[in-house]
Amino acid sequence: MTGDSLKIYRAKRDFRQTSEPEGRPAKKTKKSLPIFVIQKHDASRLHYDFRLEVKGVLKSWAVPKGLSSDPRDRRLAVQTEDHPLEYADFEGTIPKGEYGGGKVTLWDRGVYAAQGVEEALEKGHVVVWLKGKKAKGAYALIRIRSFRGKRDKSWLVVKMRDR
Ligand code: MN
Repeated sequence: MTGDSLKIYRAKRDFRQTSEPEGRPAKKTKKSLPIFVIQKHDASRLHYDFRLEVKGVLKSWAVPKGLSSDPRDRRLAVQTEDHPLEYADFEGTIPKGEYGGGKVTLWDRGVYAAQGVEEALEKGHVVVWLKGKKAKGAYALIRIRSFRGKRDKSWLVVKMRDR
């Protein structure tokens, strides 16, 4: 199940060329809070990869402008393939010509809290409480549906007002 989730990730990459992790099967039990990570990715277009640990993999979005701490900013977040959990530790330069070629650096990392994150992601509306060094507090991720009601890869990520 978890393995299938990384099929697209692996198919896009040549692990003889890139030092990115291939992805091991997820460990079964984990009691601590799930992690999140934001990696700055200086690819053909600079963006920030926002990743949330869900069921042993990293659900991932490419956020061109990165997360904002201002609730008035609605930032586009394009969902990308699930990444292996070890990817949270990846920093380095993916060779030019390889998928995602460019420099990856850690921008922030921490744990998050959310209620029923799997179901919420499926429904296209999830609230996560980030506990990072830069990204802190509640953020909503909202899937944008196309006008025909088809499922889309585009989401918005918006900081929620602190109470
Ligand atoms: Mn990226």
